[in-house]
Amino acid sequence: MSSINIAGLNKRYGQTHVLKGLDLSIKNGEFISFLGPSGCGKSTLLFCIAGLEEISDGSIRFDGREISDLGPRERNIALVFQDYALYPHMTVRDNIAFPLRQQKIDAATIAKQVAWAADVLGIQALLDRLPAALSGGQRQRVAVGRAIVRNPSVLLMDEPLSNLDASLRVHMRTEIRRLQKELGITVIFVTHDQEEAMVLSDRIAVMNNGVLQQFAAPMDVYSRP
Ligand code: ADP
Ligand code: ADP
Repeated sequence: MSSINIAGLNKRYGQTHVLKGLDLSIKNGEFISFLGPSGCGKSTLLFCIAGLEEISDGSIRFDGREISDLGPRERNIALVFQDYALYPHMTVRDNIAFPLRQQKIDAATIAKQVAWAADVLGIQALLDRLPAALSGGQRQRVAVGRAIVRNPSVLLMDEPLSNLDASLRVHMRTEIRRLQKELGITVIFVTHDQEEAMVLSDRIAVMNNGVLQQFAAPMDVYSRP
């Protein structure tokens, strides 16, 4: 669990002013969606929160500590991308284990953690397969498994459901929400799908052209004229 405080955040790429003075605070264990049209800056914001993009000015704090003062392990953030970015030559087991192997964690702990993540996501039977032998929904679970295997305090998801067909998308929504409640994790979920944001989120941050237009519970966002 981690709270996130963003204050006066600006991000520019050269002359392009992408994020324009964002202020928002996310509580421990909240499920937040960033909703807005393509190009409004959602992915850029996610990348800034993940520490993968430098911010131009302003601050991003995790539990009160500035992002630039925290090492990757202290931040303990996991990311799920739209295309899942699985390693094609590695089995499901090795894909999920990858973040732990990078941290030089011992084999017994890795095996235990991988088994746990596979169990949570119901993919125990797929552990020896290669990604090419999986369906879209199964790949998505593996990507989520790889993200949660380290027990992250924050999970960032960039349109993780948009490559799935409609019925699977609805099913995976429920799964992601269940997982979030079970793990008590702070989730930031980027989408351009209003219904998805409505169903999933404790609060929705509506973005447009690099500014935050609204930040409120789903009902309050959509009851506005
Ligand atoms: P999405 O709408 O799915 O978030 P985009 O098509 O807006 O994706 O952008 C995908 C990625 O391409 C972005 O995360 C960004 O890093 C990169 N990108 C987008 N626009 C530019 C650009 N003008 N110059 C360089 N990279 C860009
Ligand atoms: P969204 O995720 O909401 O679709 P992005 O954050 O991907 O939006 O992009 C927001 C804006 O920033 C777009 O105008 C895009 O072209 C620009 N952008 C994103 N990444 C880069 C980059 N690496 N270099 C230059 N411009 C970028």
